Amino acid sequence: MKQYTANEITEMSDTWQNYNGFTGETCGKCKKTANVFAYGAGWFCDCGNYNVQSFSSFQIPHENPDIGTPRSVIAEGHKNSKKHAEFLNAA
Ligand SMILES: [Zn+2]
Repeated sequence: MKQYTANEITEMSDTWQNYNGFTGETCGKCKKTANVFAYGAGWFCDCGNYNVQSFSSFQIPHENPDIGTPRSVIAEGHKNSKKHAEFLNAA
């Protein structure tokens, strides 16, 4: 899974119509933690397991996930975003 930089997250926040931040997930098979796009349909773990995401749930991203972008980097990206400053509270 791609590791995003703070600058990339700022860019996505300001330009993507459907950007909803990140959510902290846990693989149902190997229990690795992952930060993936919130409100997505699901995500593939490194172990190959496909995890379905609940559309109703948003969980605070993990500080140091096994997979994906750390919460501090996400927060830094949101801090610089004009459009999604409200994510500061969530991430
Ligand atoms: Zn897994």
